[in-house]
This record gives sequence, structure tokens and C-alpha cells, in this order.
Amino acid sequence: ISPPIQQRRHASKQHFVADLSQCLFDFVIQLLPTPEEMAVKEDVRKLLERLIRTIEPDSRLLSFGSTANGFSLRNSDMDLCCLIDSQERLAATDLVTMLGDLLERETKFHVKPLPHARIPIVKLSLDPSPGLPLGIACDIGFENRLALENTRLLMCYAMVDPTRVRTMVLFLKVWSKRRKINSPYKGTLSSYGYVLLVIYFLVHVKNPPVLPNLQQMPPLRPITKEDTHLNGYNTWFFDDIELLRQRWHSENTETVAELLIDFFRYYSRDFSYNTGVASIRAGLLKKDFKGWQNDLSASRYNDARERNRLCIEDPFETDYNVSRCVTKDGLYTIRGEFMRASRVLAARPERAIIALAELCE
Ligand code: ATP
Ligand code: MG
Repeated sequence: ISPPIQQRRHASKQHFVADLSQCLFDFVIQLLPTPEEMAVKEDVRKLLERLIRTIEPDSRLLSFGSTANGFSLRNSDMDLCCLIDSQERLAATDLVTMLGDLLERETKFHVKPLPHARIPIVKLSLDPSPGLPLGIACDIGFENRLALENTRLLMCYAMVDPTRVRTMVLFLKVWSKRRKINSPYKGTLSSYGYVLLVIYFLVHVKNPPVLPNLQQMPPLRPITKEDTHLNGYNTWFFDDIELLRQRWHSENTETVAELLIDFFRYYSRDFSYNTGVASIRAGLLKKDFKGWQNDLSASRYNDARERNRLCIEDPFETDYNVSRCVTKDGLYTIRGEFMRASRVLAARPERAIIALAELCE
């Protein structure tokens, strides 16, 4: 290729990438929850907390998941966790049943208590109304302290580099929902799983990294096991983000569009799905090392699901594969979507907005 043609190609690529970054910001901004929506959700949380306290006076109701980690889209569901601070407390199954009855009597929510689920929860939903055009969906769980901690970890990662991390994560959440690959119940991946894939990519794949590894940074003062362990798992991470911002600067200057293009390329062809485990805590691990070889004993599950097709280590519960619900077909579809996205972006249409629309078709 002659130098002038090369230069022109380079210029057109730079132009596309700059245009795409701007489109990505504009796109995700209009999908953020409005202040009114956040206020309504906070009111709902307070109301539910007041009601739960009539059963368990020493309880607190806390938000986790997207409502609390900065990765919330408009109309996303609410994940709530009830913590009970007294020693003598009701068993979760009884609490779920009693709370279900109470909410049914006292509120307009549709209530579905699931006292015998693996993690007992109460599911609530509110019909659309003029003030809340899409209603509300909400799950209340109990004593899920690890979920509160992983929410805080994701929030800290979002705060280290708010523009690039939040834009990428929010875009991938919308994209995965529109492309219908965000349904753990149907064999694809949860939002939590996609967020971990993004953080893994920014900490361990990008060189220089966009994010530091918050779980491996030296602590500011000596820490003891009692300070850091929860249910036997080490939940310590560097959470003084103000200090981190003063002391740590990423050498990586790529734009959000460049990172997204590379993200899709990496997960279409470079990640070792057959043998690798993505761990934001420890980098790329081996399935063998974790004892997470593909488990083909489908008879132990009521359908042909297999557990370890895709392996993403939970940041704290390190013996838990966050993507254990992803089936063979599910993974095939997800990888197909990563490839499709790579293709759409590599074609670099005249205007980036066209690529974005096609991506989320
Ligand atoms: P959305 O806006 O789509 O609801 P979200 O950010 O709330 O996204 P979810 O996938 O609903 O993400 O997860 C919410 C929280 O539930 C996570 O922060 C995590 O604590 C917990 N969680 C969800 N899925 C898993 C999973 N597969 N394994 C372990 N914890 C999970
Ligand atoms: Mg959620």
C-alpha cells in the first residue's frame, strides 16, 4: 500500500474511533436513570425497610447490584439485601414467608415469596402508573453480605476511571440485553458476569492496564484475618479511591471506542474458553488448576446443562464460577455475538451512529 493510501486509512480510522467514542457517551447518557426514578426507588427502599422492621426491629435494608454500583440503566430492577444485626433472628425461610404475607396485606406490590429457593428471596413488582411508567421489579434477599461487598468492589472500579469504565459497562449491558444474551435462566450470562469480563479485560488484558488490581494492592496499614474475612472468604480490597486517584495513573490513553473494539476482538478470538478462567483477582487461571473442567455429568442436572463451559471466578467466592449457568449453546451464541460486533465495528461505516444502531439491532 502506498504511503498516501496508508495515511488516508489511518485518518479515516482515527475519525471513526473519535466519532464512535462520542456516540457511545451520548448513547449511554440518555439511558441513565432519571433523578426522579432514583428518588422513587429510594422511597420504595425506605418503605420496605420500615415494614420489615415491624417483624425484625434490628434489621437494615440495603441496595446492591446496579442500583448501588453505578452501572444502573433506566428501569433496571432493584436488588435489596436485608441485614439483621441481632443474634436471635428468624430463619430466612420463616422471614420470607412472614414478609410475603405482610407486604401482600400492606402494599400494592405483587408479591412472590420463594422461601425454599437456594437463596430464599421475596420477589416484588409494581404495575406501571403515571409517575412510574414502567413499574418496578425488586428482589429482597437476606444476609447476602458477600453481594454487598462485590457491589462495593465494582463501584470502586467504576470510580477509578468513571468515563471509560462506566461507558463500556453500560454499553455492554444494553447491547447484551438487546442481543438477548443476558439471561442466565436461558443459558447466557448475567449482567454481573459481563461486568467482570470488562474489568478482567481492563486490569489483565490491556497493556498498559486501564485499571489497577484493587485486590492485590498493598494495604495502607496492617490488616488481620478478622478484618478481612467474611464467611471464610477474603473480601479485602483497596477502597480508598481518593488516595488511589492521587497515587495511581493509568498509562493507557486509549479511547472508550478503541477499548470496546479491542474488547470484542479479545472475546471473539483470543480468550482461551476451553482451558482458561477469567479472574479479576488473579488474572488468567487454568480450569485444571481450579478443578473446573467441563463437567459433562448432565444427569446431575435436570437438563443437558454443563457447568464450566465459560469460567469467570467470583472476586471473593473464589470457588464459585459466576458463569456456571452458561450452556454450550449459550456460549456459542455469546461468542457469535462478540464476533458479529467485531465485524460491524471493523467495517467502519461512514458514520459511527450507524455502527452503533446495527450493533444493538
Ligand atoms: P441489571 O441492571 O441487569 O439488573 P446488575 O448490575 O444489577 O444488572 P445483576 O446480574 O442483576 O447485575 O447482579 C446483581 C448482584 O447480584 C451482583 O452485584 C452480585 O452481587 C449478584 N449476582 C448476580 N449474578 C450473580 C452470579 N451469577 N453469581 C453471584 N452473584 C451474582
Ligand atoms: Mg440487578
